[in-house]
Amino acid sequence: VPTVGLDVGGTKCLGVLLDDAGAVLAERRRPTPTGTPELLATLVELTAELEQAAGVRAAAVGVGMPGLVDRAGGLRAAPHLPWARDLPLAERLAEHLGRPVVVDNDATCALEAEAHDGAARGVREAVLVTLGTGIGAAWLTEGAIRRGHHGFAGEAGHMVVEAQGLRCPCGRRGCWERYASGSGLGRVARDAVEAGEAPRVLALAGGDPDAVRGEHLSAAAAEGDPAALEVLERFAWWVALGLANLTNLLDPERIVVGGGLVRSGDLLLAPVRAELAGLLFAADRRRTPDVVAAELGEQAGARGAALVAARAAAQEPWGT
Ligand SMILES: [Zn+2]
Repeated sequence: VPTVGLDVGGTKCLGVLLDDAGAVLAERRRPTPTGTPELLATLVELTAELEQAAGVRAAAVGVGMPGLVDRAGGLRAAPHLPWARDLPLAERLAEHLGRPVVVDNDATCALEAEAHDGAARGVREAVLVTLGTGIGAAWLTEGAIRRGHHGFAGEAGHMVVEAQGLRCPCGRRGCWERYASGSGLGRVARDAVEAGEAPRVLALAGGDPDAVRGEHLSAAAAEGDPAALEVLERFAWWVALGLANLTNLLDPERIVVGGGLVRSGDLLLAPVRAELAGLLFAADRRRTPDVVAAELGEQAGARGAALVAARAAAQEPWGT
């Protein structure tokens, strides 16, 4: 059945409409609004726009949300949408749309899509990590995605990797996403610039140290600037540290890395692979998991949300 998938990010909402076979018939996007009524209105309008563009009615709608989503499709907390707490999103949207609505964590949705049609296809033991503004994670074992008791599993961004480390907006110190996300990359770049280590990065930021962001470091590294490459390797160690913790825990065959930072491709992933091999427990007695880039890009979350909705619609026909 055709389904709509909506991925709500900190700044934009991306929607897709999939046909029976999972092919994308339409894609639309809108800025993420502030406030619950505004969010509901945006998601209802996006659904209508997608249906109009594709010329079909969706049987069910799936929504991927950043943060803690319970098994009833309620959003408990989303760090980048502070106004959205304890919001029964699936229930409220279903009232507006008159059909089944499923809400799930955005990284879980991304893994659904990558496992169906992307970098985790055919893999029974896989971990997906998205490196964006923060870090999202999800995994499958024995071929099934694991959501935990409440549905809250996968908050790998808040694994503590430095007990007395940097403060995290979550209220604790030393969370992995303070070091290995896009904002972590920006901080590493600014530290390097302040230490006078990366003149090319500073030049790309227009000579203003406060304007230095992760993308300036990535751009300098892509040019082959040796100082930028060295700083990127330092950052890669933090990425690898978290992946080593996840590997020690879950023993995946493959790790899929998505999110904005994988636009750097092997420039980032090659040093991550090299560091990971040495950080694992009993590294010389085991094979290091493959570390590969996600394949579905920014559509992964929305496509996965639509797949989750299709499954739910198949299991529970609406109104019966
Ligand atoms: Zn945290």
